[in-house]
Amino acid sequence: MRGGALISGNPVAGPNLSVEETLKVLAVLRHSPHGEAAAVGAIGLIAAVIAVDRLATSPRQAAAVAFGLLVVAMLVLAVVLVPWRRLPAPHADRVAALADLPAEQVARGERLHAELRPSAYGGRAVTLAAAVGLGLTPAGTALVTWAGGVLGGSWVAQVLAGAVAIALLNQVFTLPFAAWAHTILVRHGLSTQTWRAWAIDGVKALALGLVLISIVLLGFYGAGRASPQWWWVWAAVFLTAVSVLLTFVFPVLIAPIFNKFTPLEPGPLRDRLLALAAADGVAVREVYVADASRRTRAVNAAVGGLGATRRIILFDNLLRPAEATQGSPTKDGEAAKAMSDELLRGATDDQIAVIVAHELAHAKYHDMASRTVLGAVRLTALMCGLYLLDGWTALLRLAGVDTLTDPRALGLFVVVLGAIGALLRPLGKLMSRRFESRADRHALDLTGDPASFEGAWRHVVEVNLADASPGRLRYLLSASHPSIVERIATARAYARQQGDSVTDAAADIPEAFAPLNSAVSGQGCR
Ligand SMILES: [Zn+2]
Repeated sequence: MRGGALISGNPVAGPNLSVEETLKVLAVLRHSPHGEAAAVGAIGLIAAVIAVDRLATSPRQAAAVAFGLLVVAMLVLAVVLVPWRRLPAPHADRVAALADLPAEQVARGERLHAELRPSAYGGRAVTLAAAVGLGLTPAGTALVTWAGGVLGGSWVAQVLAGAVAIALLNQVFTLPFAAWAHTILVRHGLSTQTWRAWAIDGVKALALGLVLISIVLLGFYGAGRASPQWWWVWAAVFLTAVSVLLTFVFPVLIAPIFNKFTPLEPGPLRDRLLALAAADGVAVREVYVADASRRTRAVNAAVGGLGATRRIILFDNLLRPAEATQGSPTKDGEAAKAMSDELLRGATDDQIAVIVAHELAHAKYHDMASRTVLGAVRLTALMCGLYLLDGWTALLRLAGVDTLTDPRALGLFVVVLGAIGALLRPLGKLMSRRFESRADRHALDLTGDPASFEGAWRHVVEVNLADASPGRLRYLLSASHPSIVERIATARAYARQQGDSVTDAAADIPEAFAPLNSAVSGQGCR
């Protein structure tokens, strides 16, 4: 969905879509691979243009109508694109799955995550305090004005220097909590990083973040200056284009900043994985191995990129466990050593096949494209909402500015976006879990190997020190994947059903869980 199109029917902006052109577009969409979703989107878009055209007498009214329509569009797309139906994970199976996991491993995972929580919450609390302090008081405005002044005082200087100043300030506040988390991960034997390697990672991430944020902010404030009435549309178009471009270039330009990727060595495993992809009808040219062991002992996999850059990535720890921690041994270094002794093997080839089958599902169902479409509409609604918020003078007065598109109000921009992001986060996580559940189901269908599926999760509990069964609230607020206990329970219920279906003649049971539509897609890991 293109935000720009929303305004084409408005008296203030560009040309109308003719009926003929509309029909032509619809005809093309009907034959595209994601025809259904695209057609729904196109119809929504046309309805939006007509509604805005009819109802709006001013840009502000048009934005209000557009916002309502965008929210409806988000809901419709969420219903259509997210695979809400999933395989059952019966309660009894979850209880049994948890009981069957080695108790000391489950306890170790819980302990690690309990120890990490104070640092995570502490980091978030200081970020929030800094954001509120800079965004809802004149302090942020003063900081950006000062920093911009150092570079000459233009709006570009204010955006760039302001972003650097705010990011560095946040970094200073959160650094102690990040360092604390690192010591915990090293003590538990999960991190393999020295302080030096950890610091280099942090500097790289900060530098990359600043480059990306600068691009985003220059686009946002540039739109604000170029079109005071319609900036939200141009900002949405620009930011959507940036996010699509990032998805494309991420595996080839950004991921290599942090990891080395090498093609999986020729051999039986590579042949098997490529054959699996071919059997699944997914075009995969290469399976890459990431040198994750330089950072962690954890295992993971991902499918990244779009189109020509799409690839499957395996953590090297799946193939061979990381060496013992290189970091300075602590008094708890014994724990790390004990753990490395347990990890004499990587995952089995069968387990890796199941993991890759999960990743193939993300490619097969185009989960990345679905998430991009959902993200684009959400972003457009967000920009539209910001435009409407821009009329709230009491809020603007807190920061001592007249408009959100004033670069000096960068702190306010951050706090408003942060608040909206926090509110939407649980819904985003819920949708993510549904995409992941479908990928799990696909892995079971494709490999027909629930035993190795369960084995893979057992391996993750052992190696990643995963929290196999997180508390309900934490799960709802922040879990992007089903819990491990849930995934094992699903595999067991699936195995039972498969057994039943042979005798029941209900051989099409997996069909009952076919995706709600054929039009979906996405990205994911694990
Ligand atoms: Zn996944």
